[in-house]
Amino acid sequence: MYLPIVALGDPILRKEAQPITPDYPGLKELIADMFETMYSADGVGLAAPQIDRSIRLVVIGFRPYDEKTDTYGEEEERHVLINPEIVSMGEKKGYFNEGCLSLPDIHEDVLRPETIVLHWFDENWEEHNEEIGGLFARVAQHEIDHLNGKVFTDRLSPLRKTMIKRKLNDVISGKVHPKYRLKRK
Ligand code: ZN
Repeated sequence: MYLPIVALGDPILRKEAQPITPDYPGLKELIADMFETMYSADGVGLAAPQIDRSIRLVVIGFRPYDEKTDTYGEEEERHVLINPEIVSMGEKKGYFNEGCLSLPDIHEDVLRPETIVLHWFDENWEEHNEEIGGLFARVAQHEIDHLNGKVFTDRLSPLRKTMIKRKLNDVISGKVHPKYRLKRK
């Protein structure tokens, strides 16, 4: 089932999301719905606050990029992150052009660590504590920001923020019309 996506301006995107336990009601269905929502909106990651649930749950799915051959792999990489926590961040940082389903039509280069050590539980409640890199690390950091009430434009320089202020205000005032359905207040 497609779940309407909350846009910037909705207070839920500014709240600290709460951890969940294995008995969280309807978790399996919720994860399936979040994947369905993410794919139909052409996203590579979705955090639960974006579908109006203030819980620490993230889905990620993308075809891995191979730098050597400049192609995207056939097989999709999928991750479910339950109660994810960044344990440590690698020293090397890089820019990557990010977008967000809650901020339609805005794409900006964001500086983040290229690798992180991440602790999380997957959909089977198996515990992971792994160093991750590449697109997985990038998307995971973007989505974990959502769990902490942050969006990617918060990480831009003051100058850049000023330059996109109008675009941000358009999102907040509902003057955007993406192909996917937004939750209107
Ligand atoms: Zn986002």
